[in-house]
Order: sequence, then C-alpha cells, then structure tokens
Amino acid sequence: MTEKNPALQPLSIAQSQAIVDQWIRSVGVRYFSELTNLAQLVEEVGELARIISRTYGEQSFKESDKSFDLADEMADVLFVLICLANQTGVDLESALRRNLDKKSARDATRHQENRKLTAMLAKSRNEAEQE
Ligand SMILES: [Mg+2]
Repeated sequence: MTEKNPALQPLSIAQSQAIVDQWIRSVGVRYFSELTNLAQLVEEVGELARIISRTYGEQSFKESDKSFDLADEMADVLFVLICLANQTGVDLESALRRNLDKKSARDATRHQENRKLTAMLAKSRNEAEQE
C-alpha cells in the first residue's frame, strides 16, 4: 500500500488557516499585530502588482525583477490574509461561501448585461472563427 503524499492532497481554506496558525506559533513565534500585518499585506500586494504590471502591462522587467515568481507572490498575499483572518477570528471558508452567495444573488444578470463584456467576447469569438 502506498502512502499518500500529504503535500499533494487537496488543502481546504480551513486547513490552510490551521496550518498557518501552527506555523506562526512554532516558526514565527507569534502573530505580528493586525496593523503590521495590514502593512505586510499591502507590501505583498505591491510585489504582486509589480509582476502583473511588468508581465501584462507596459512596464518592462529590470534585471533585478526577473527572479520574481507570480505564484509565490500570490501565496505571500494569501499567507498574510490568512494571518489576518486567524488573528481576527474570521473563518475564511464560510466568509468566501457567503460572499459568493451574495455576489451570485446581487449580480445574477449584471455581467451578462454588461455590453463592454459581451461585445469583447463576441469580438474574440468572431476572430477565433476567422482563424
Ligand atoms: Mg512577496
């Protein structure tokens, strides 16, 4: 019987919050204050924005930017957000479910009725058909 590699198993948001909490209490000693973590979150979002700007926007990469990793920067953002959720008592899994329900009810037809979205989709479909 082969043992399943835990690193390859699905990881729920609740499990992620527990793992981050365990990591903070062992490796990290304690949580930074909420205000420090908010500043950290903004810093990490800035690092993510730098990569997005240089990859999909008009900015070019400097030599020093080339080691940045998009997935790793997204994980940095998620890590700090999870820290903030843990220290403020937020269950992110429940919050995401409630949030998706809210968006689904509120925006049930909004995006389908957005001509800017639908026109762009029709244009890209027409271009694909002509290729
Ligand atoms: Mg980072």
